[in-house]
Order: sequence, then structure tokens, then C-alpha cells
Amino acid sequence: MVSARAVAEAVTDPELPMLTLAELGVLRDVTEESGRVEVTITPTYTGCPALDTMRADLRKSLADAGYGDVEIRTVLDPPWTSDWISDSGRRKLREAGIAPPGPAPRRASGPIPLALGPTRRVRCPHCGSADTAEVSRFGATACKSLRRCESCREPFEHFKEI
Ligand SMILES: [Zn+2]
Repeated sequence: MVSARAVAEAVTDPELPMLTLAELGVLRDVTEESGRVEVTITPTYTGCPALDTMRADLRKSLADAGYGDVEIRTVLDPPWTSDWISDSGRRKLREAGIAPPGPAPRRASGPIPLALGPTRRVRCPHCGSADTAEVSRFGATACKSLRRCESCREPFEHFKEI
């Protein structure tokens, strides 16, 4: 029998099917005790409607592997950050033509500075040029913005830092 952790780690994200929930950093913990499986997830964006699909996909994969007693806990604190996307996840994003997020802005515990400094450079996933411009703040999903490369003229999506 495959371990519940291995099963859960192989479940892919509904909106980014090239990435597993583990690579996305959404899968926080999997525990197994006397046949009972507890999965802890932290959804990427609270606005992302994919949470129910994630839960259903996890339940189905675990049930198919023989785990019928599954509890899925959603933990919102600490909130998900794009820094949790693994290296392999970042590579897969790039391979899919999506520019991976840069370092997430620091969450200040004191007063939050409004100026976030100069606009960060987003490299084109096709040719690597840093000469890119934002076309639309929102791409196919709220998690991504739409950009265009000024060098190769290709449009691409950028996974926003959060
Ligand atoms: Zn380019």
C-alpha cells in the first residue's frame, strides 16, 4: 500500500495541473494513525475557488489508494506564500510558459510600508529577457498576471508574488 503522504503529494493543483499540491506548497502535512488520515492544506489565495476541487481530488486519490477515513483540514495561518513553491514547481511553471514568482514581499509585523520599492523585474519564460511589461493585472486566474515580452514579443503569464 502506498503511504497516504505519497498519495496526497501526487495530487495536482486544479488550476495549475502541471504542479502537485506539494510542489505548490499547499500541502502542509499528512498524518496517518490507525487507518485515519489527516491532511492539512493551506490554499494559495483565499479568492481562489479551487479549494473544493482540491479537497475532492485529495479525497478521491486517497480513497482510490484505500484510505477511506480522511479528514482534510484547512489552515489559513500562517497564510500561504509563493515562497513555498518548490524548486521543481518553479521549473515546471517556467516550462509551462509561466514566469515563476520572485521573492514574496516581507510581511511586516509593524506598520506596513506602502512603497514596495522599484517594480521587480519579471523574466520572460521563453527567452529569458527581463524586458517585459504587464498587459493585465489578472490573467486566466487571479493568481497570475498577463505580461508581454518586449524582446521576443511573446505574451506570458506571471505567477504573482504573495
Ligand atoms: Zn521573450
